[in-house]
Amino acid sequence: MHAQNPVFIPGPTNIPDAIRKACDIATIDHRSPAFARMFRPAIAGVKRVLKMDAGEVFLLPATGTGGWETAITNTLSAGDTVLAARFGMFSHRWIDMCNRHGLKTQVLETPWGQGMPLERIEAALRADTGHAIKAVLATHNETATGVKSDIAGLRRAMDAAGHPALLMVDGVSSIASIPFEFSRWGVDIAVTGSQKGFMLPPGLAILGVSDKALAAMATATLPRTYFDLRDQQKGYAAGGYPYTPPVGLIAGLSKAIEMLEDEGLDNVYARHHRLAEGVRRAVAAWGLKPCAASPDLYSDTVTAILAPEGFDGTAVVTLAAQKYNTAFGVGLGEVAGKLWRFGHLGMLSDVMVLAGLATAEMAMADLGWPIKLGAGVAAAQDYFRGATAAAQQDAA
Ligand SMILES: *Cc1c(COP(=O)(O)O)cnc(C)c1O
Repeated sequence: MHAQNPVFIPGPTNIPDAIRKACDIATIDHRSPAFARMFRPAIAGVKRVLKMDAGEVFLLPATGTGGWETAITNTLSAGDTVLAARFGMFSHRWIDMCNRHGLKTQVLETPWGQGMPLERIEAALRADTGHAIKAVLATHNETATGVKSDIAGLRRAMDAAGHPALLMVDGVSSIASIPFEFSRWGVDIAVTGSQKGFMLPPGLAILGVSDKALAAMATATLPRTYFDLRDQQKGYAAGGYPYTPPVGLIAGLSKAIEMLEDEGLDNVYARHHRLAEGVRRAVAAWGLKPCAASPDLYSDTVTAILAPEGFDGTAVVTLAAQKYNTAFGVGLGEVAGKLWRFGHLGMLSDVMVLAGLATAEMAMADLGWPIKLGAGVAAAQDYFRGATAAAQQDAA
C-alpha cells in the first residue's frame, strides 16, 4: 500500500480535496462568457486576500519566480538600480534575476537568520539623493531561513527617507497565511504563487500591482512579451486573456478564496501562528535552535531548525523521505546541511503537525541526534491543548 502522507515542506503545500475537485473541470472556451464569469470573481477574491483598495491583480501561468520577473520587467529599464537585502536563498535569487536582466543591484549583505535591515535600507535611500534606486525588493518571509521581515516598517523607512522607489514584495510564503496589507503598507507589487498559502497545485503566479507601478509600465523598457502586463490588462478588460490561461487553476483559486474566507482570514492567521508556535515549542524541547535569530523574526509559515555541531540537516530530510515517506525541507545555499525545515503553511491542522513532529523525531533519533523521542511531540501537545481550548472559548 502506498499511504499518502501530508508534506511538511514550505510549498508546494497540501491540497484540500475540495480544491482538487474544483480544479478538475471540463474544457471551457477561455474566450467565452463562461470563462469571464469564473475569472472575474477570482481576481476580486485575490484583491480581498491581499487587502487592496486600488490597483489590479494579475494571474499568470508561472510560479513565484515568474512573478518576480513580471514585477521587474514591467516597471524597470536596463541600468536602473534596485536596492535589496540578501539574507537567504530566495532574496538571493531575486537579486540574481535582476543582475541577469541588466539591472544594477545595490545589495545589503545581511547574515542569514536576520531580517531585512530597515535602518541600513533607510540610510541607503537617504544617500541616494539622485533617486537612481527605482525599486526596493523585499522578501517578506525568507523561506530558506524561516525569517519574517517587517514590511510596514520598511514602508515607514522609505517614507522617512522621502524616497519615491517602488516597493516590491515577495509574499510567496506569506500571503494567505500571515497578515498581509497591500494598501495599508503601500506595497507597489506583491508576488505570490498558487502552491503556497492558496493551497493550489503549482502553476499560477499571482500579482497585486498598485496604480503607481501600473503607471511605470509606460516608460519601462526591459524586454517582456509573455509576462507583459499591458497585454494582460487589455485581455482582462474584455473578460479574457492574451493567450490560453490555466483555466483549471483559476477555477481552483476561487474555491481556495472561498475556503480562506469561510475560515476567516484572521482565523487563518491565528491557526498559522498556533501551528508555528507548536513547532517552536517542539524545537525548544529537543534542545535545538531555530535559524531565525530572535523571536520577532520567527516565521509562522516555516521553521528552519539548526543541526547541532557535527550533524547534517539534509540527512534528516533524506532519511524521512526514504524510510518514512514524508517530506521536510532541506537547507538551501549558504545553510545547506546546516539545518532542515518544517513547513507549516496551507492546509494543516494540529493533528497533522503532531504527525510531522513525531516523524521528524524518528528520523533525528535514527541518525543519533541528541533528542529525546517524544519530547517535541509532548511539548506541542501541551501547547495545542491549551491554545485550542482558548480558541474554542473565544469562539463560544
Ligand atoms: C517558494 C518561493 C518562491 C518562488 O518559488 P517558485 O518555485 O518559483 O514558486 C519565491 N520566494 C519565496 C519566499 C518562496 O518561498
